[in-house]
Amino acid sequence: VSTWGAVPQGPPDPILGITEAFKADKDPRKINLGVGAYRDEHGKPYVLQTVKKAEEAVASQGVDKEYLPITGLAEFTARAALLAYGAESEPLTKGAVAITQSISGTGALRIGGEFLARHYPHSKVIYVPTPTWGNHIPLFRDSGLEVRHYRYFDKQNVALDFEGLKSDLLSAPEGAIVLLHACAHNPTGIDPTPEQWEALSHIVKEKKLFPFFDMAYQGFASGDIARDAFALRHFVAQGHQVALAQSFAKNMGLYGERTGAFSVTTADPEEKARVDSQLKIIIRPMYSNPPSHGARIASAILGDQALYTQWESEVKGMADRIISMREKIYNILTHDLKTPGEWGHIKTQIGMFSYTGLNPEQTQALAQKAHVYMTKDGRISMAGLNAGNVEYFAASVDAVVR
Ligand code: PLP
Repeated sequence: VSTWGAVPQGPPDPILGITEAFKADKDPRKINLGVGAYRDEHGKPYVLQTVKKAEEAVASQGVDKEYLPITGLAEFTARAALLAYGAESEPLTKGAVAITQSISGTGALRIGGEFLARHYPHSKVIYVPTPTWGNHIPLFRDSGLEVRHYRYFDKQNVALDFEGLKSDLLSAPEGAIVLLHACAHNPTGIDPTPEQWEALSHIVKEKKLFPFFDMAYQGFASGDIARDAFALRHFVAQGHQVALAQSFAKNMGLYGERTGAFSVTTADPEEKARVDSQLKIIIRPMYSNPPSHGARIASAILGDQALYTQWESEVKGMADRIISMREKIYNILTHDLKTPGEWGHIKTQIGMFSYTGLNPEQTQALAQKAHVYMTKDGRISMAGLNAGNVEYFAASVDAVVR
């Protein structure tokens, strides 16, 4: 008998399952709105011009393939921290941000989960929004934290359930950890307003909660790097100590290069050094040290004024293309087709994803009758839409809601 005879069949990944159904569909009109990766106006994966230039610059420097240090390329993490926290950030200027390179955003969250499980003294409970990026839940659970939920989404109005959110944080045990999507909430596309962030900062302070920001979309949400960092920078300016997971998958299109960073703000350089030492102790037995290529590219872009400026405009270009698709769908549904229902949320939601408000029966009908694929909660990746398919998409939505 085989050693593995008793291993049970696990369920398929809900998002990768959609890609499989999409691939098997032979209809030329088919659209995949399941996957969270940017597509250009022709529906094709997109490599940023600045990434190509940075890659050439890196290659011309004749870099070797030696190991990076455990916490990665120091030049990259310094620039990543500056991008997130901003030049005015007090912990940054006084040398009190402990930071390590990570295997993209997922790896950053996992290092953070492990670090908090071991060293956060007040609680092992982490609150995540309902709904949240599906991977948050197993990721934090596997890190040794207890995952609980706070209300976030008001299904009735396809809006932020701000009262529910405040009330759940106010009734959380003192000292609990709270995971906050820094911008472009995945999957809903709904973010708190700056005023709501200010109110949340007060609650977090009052309840002595520990804020852990997941920033997977800096720049990608509004097209503006600083604006998308508002929540993080506000919390830091208000004196909160924070943890932060950063990803360069979306805003630099470095998905497969696995480029990210995890950081914690500390009291002073001496405390930072102790935290750094513990990050190394966590990382070394997991994967020794991170991959170098993506970090070199990101570092080259962030460290060169001309490349940085061009990158900012490329990020804005991606964000603007998505925003224009939102407006287009809204206009077709509301004005051209007079589709029943309220569609204003499509236009106001932020980032790559939109919660359409379509129910599981409707999403199933869209897949079967119109070859349009999305997750069954009605989430669509706006990046999958373009001038060539947006009208067909809107007409298909119109047909299933009538
Ligand atoms: N956090 C959120 C909210 C995400 O949506 C994603 C990717 O979809 C990630 C983190 C991590 O992505 P990656 O590991 O590719 O950087």
